[in-house]
Amino acid sequence: MELEKITLPGLEEKRPLVIAGPCSAETEEQVMETARQLAAQGVKIFRAGVWKPRTKPGGFEGVGTEALGWLKKVKQETGMHVSTEVATAKHVQEALKFGMDLLWVGARTTANPFAVQEIADALKGVDIPVLIKNPVNPDLELWIGAIERLHNAGLRKLGVIHRGFSSYDKKLYRNLPQWHIPIELHRRIPNLPIICDPSHIGGRRDLIAPLCQQAMDLQFDGLIIESHNNPDLAWSDKDQQITPDVLSLILNTLVIREMNQTTESLAALRKQIDEIDMSLTELLAKRMRVAGEIGQYKKEHGMAILQATRYDEILSKRIAEGEIMGMSGEFMKTILEAIHTESVRKQMEIMNK
Ligand code: PEP
Ligand code: MN
Repeated sequence: MELEKITLPGLEEKRPLVIAGPCSAETEEQVMETARQLAAQGVKIFRAGVWKPRTKPGGFEGVGTEALGWLKKVKQETGMHVSTEVATAKHVQEALKFGMDLLWVGARTTANPFAVQEIADALKGVDIPVLIKNPVNPDLELWIGAIERLHNAGLRKLGVIHRGFSSYDKKLYRNLPQWHIPIELHRRIPNLPIICDPSHIGGRRDLIAPLCQQAMDLQFDGLIIESHNNPDLAWSDKDQQITPDVLSLILNTLVIREMNQTTESLAALRKQIDEIDMSLTELLAKRMRVAGEIGQYKKEHGMAILQATRYDEILSKRIAEGEIMGMSGEFMKTILEAIHTESVRKQMEIMNK
C-alpha cells in the first residue's frame, strides 16, 4: 500500500507530536480541569475516551455521548484539537456531530475486521485524521488490514499508534512493546506517522519516561500519553496516568536525536548540554537569591535557619519526582544536599550581617 506523506494537526512541527488527556472522560470538571492544565503546558491535541471497551462487564464503560459535549467545550475554551476512540458506526456519527478533530480505533477494535469495516463505511467521504492502534495480538498483517480498510474508504489522513501487545504472563510491561513490529510497519508503509502510547505499553507511571525516550530514539513521530488532573482517583487505568505537570517534566527531559548519528549530531547534542548547563547555573543562582530572601524574612521574624520538617518534605518530594524522571534517588539526594548546604551558608551570611 502506497501512502502520500500526510499532515496531522501538530505533525508539521518538531517531533514529538503530543496527544494527551485522560484515559476516560469522567465528569465535566475533571475533563475541563485536566484540559486547562494541559493547554497551559502547551499540549495541542487532547484525548479522552468516551466509550470504554472493558475486558469484563461491570467496569466503567464510559459516559457516552454526553462527554462529547465536554470535549467540544475543551475545544472552544482552550483551542486544543480534540480526539476520542470510536468502535462502531454510531460512535463515528456522534463524534463527527460534536466536531471531533481526530479519531482513533482502539486495540480491541483493530483486531476485529467486521468492526473496522463498519467504521470505514461510516467514515466514507469524511476528511478526518484517524489513528489506528495495533491489534491486541502481535499480528502485523491484521494491523495493515485495518489501515487498508480505512484507506479503501478514501481516508488519507491516517496514522498508527503502537500500544504494545497482550501476553499471558504479565511481567514488567502491561503490553509487550515488541518494537520490531512497528518498525517493520514503518518499513512497509514509510509515510505513515507512528505514535507511541507508553501509557498502555507500560501500565505504570515510572515506565512512561523511559518508553517515551525509547520511542524518540526509534524515530517515532509522536506520543499519546494518558494524563489526568488527579490520577490516583481516575475511574480507569489509574496506575498509568500522570498529572499534566509530570507530563511536562517528562516531555522537557526528552532528548531528540535526528536520524543519522554523525559528528554533526554529536556537536548538536553537546550544544544542547552547554545550553542546559547554562540554564541550570542560572536557575541555581535564582534559587540562592530566593533562599537569601527567606533568610532575611527569618532574621526579621526571629526564626531559626534550619526548618527540619520543610527540608524533609523538600527532600522526599524532589527525590520522588527525580525517580519518576529516571534518575536515582541517591543522585537526587546528593544534589539536593549540596544545594541545601549552599542555601544555609547564604542564610547564615545574612543572619550574621
Ligand atoms: C485507551 O486509549 O484508553 C485504550 C482503551 O487503549 P487500547 O485500545 O490501546 O487498549
Ligand atoms: Mn486507557
